[in-house]
Amino acid sequence: MQIASLARATVVGSISAVLGCWYWRKVPKSGLLNSLKTALSSLKRVSGECNGGWRPAAKDADIRNIPKGKHTLGSVRAKQTWILINQMTKTAIVLGAGGFIGSHLVKRLKAEGFWVRGVDLKFPEFSESAADDFVIGDLREQSVCDRIIDRRFDEVYQLAADMGGAGYIFTGEHDAEIMHNSATINLNIADRAHKRSIKRVFYSSSACMYPEYNQLDPDNPNLEESSAYPAAPDSEYGWEKLFSERLFLAYNRNFGMTNRVARYHNIFGPEGTWQGGKEKAPAAICRKIALARDNGEIEIWGDGEQTRSFLYIDECLEGTIRLTRSDFEGPVNIGSDEMVTINQLVDYVSGIAGKTIHKNHIPGPTGVRGRNSDNRLIESKLGWRPSEPLRAGLERTYMWIEQQVRRNAA
Ligand code: NAD
Repeated sequence: MQIASLARATVVGSISAVLGCWYWRKVPKSGLLNSLKTALSSLKRVSGECNGGWRPAAKDADIRNIPKGKHTLGSVRAKQTWILINQMTKTAIVLGAGGFIGSHLVKRLKAEGFWVRGVDLKFPEFSESAADDFVIGDLREQSVCDRIIDRRFDEVYQLAADMGGAGYIFTGEHDAEIMHNSATINLNIADRAHKRSIKRVFYSSSACMYPEYNQLDPDNPNLEESSAYPAAPDSEYGWEKLFSERLFLAYNRNFGMTNRVARYHNIFGPEGTWQGGKEKAPAAICRKIALARDNGEIEIWGDGEQTRSFLYIDECLEGTIRLTRSDFEGPVNIGSDEMVTINQLVDYVSGIAGKTIHKNHIPGPTGVRGRNSDNRLIESKLGWRPSEPLRAGLERTYMWIEQQVRRNAA
């Protein structure tokens, strides 16, 4: 009997010692008392919730290519434990966190003090992700979505999509992949968020969903939100965006969710794709000009008289976060209303580069004839609209791309 008690005491003592050491290592010493309180209340919460609460991560067999170090699913588990203890920290998940906007959004949310999980097929190309956890996973797989949306995140940002610049979207060669891949991701995420009792997902739609017939006049395109119907986007990418906007808003109506939908217009900035065929016009033009000699020539698709507006990444993030936390569901444009022709864009960039550049207009995919963001709705609903001049963002972007070009050449 005494031996049994002694053995029991030894086992209990050892477990306490191990837990004590682990806990002392995980918890900042200054916040120990607070954290103990929070841990107790979290444990109550975990045991009380049957749907939509925290769950330990399930088996990780389908999460592919998990690299070593900070970004392993093992660390996902450790961090989940940490979240469990520190429930005071707000949590966000960024889907598409290895992409251009997603990687910047992670940085922004970290700067605001969020605990952030990023998910993507790949890591950000140009800098280390700022995410606390970064899961390499394919969001077309339901099992992956189950695993990564394993708790009720405070904020969910759905940016993952099969996309690219005009050379990828408008040639028609990738239509089936674009539609299948992006729609599957959106179907999975809307459903998974709903099943986890997450109320709000931010969804990034695109100006490409607007009807082509309102974008024929380069001087007066109509991209008011209400002009979306009768629908007639000029690309399958745009049709998929339109479908997915409707999907997220249908979940609002039928399941009491409060999803938010923005229509982005040409976002640009440092650390965006700048070569390889998926880059957008500002990055492609910056690259061509950085590579050209003074008095040299660059190729421009079409006559260059098609109009566009371009929004710098920081303003895109500001609008995204404001919309996500607002009472307005959208869809709403997030874009600049400083409309320029592609020829003017070339002139801006060559001015920044200090080079004289001649334009050689060649046939190529050009998209719609005119496009500009209509910012009346965002201003009336959020009391905010993007306001930074295009040139300021172009200066930062050109400097970054020029650096990449030099590094590549070295
Ligand atoms: P991006 O291509 O840089 O990022 C998208 C990310 O999604 C990529 O990193 C990609 O790897 C990831 N992804 C694709 N398929 C995936 C999958 N099956 N599983 C996991 N991840 C997957 O694009 P971005 O410029 O950062 O755009 C973000 C979102 O905003 C996209 O939905 C895009 O359609 C939308 N949008 C962007 C712009 C723009 O100008 N950048 C304009 C309109 C709309």
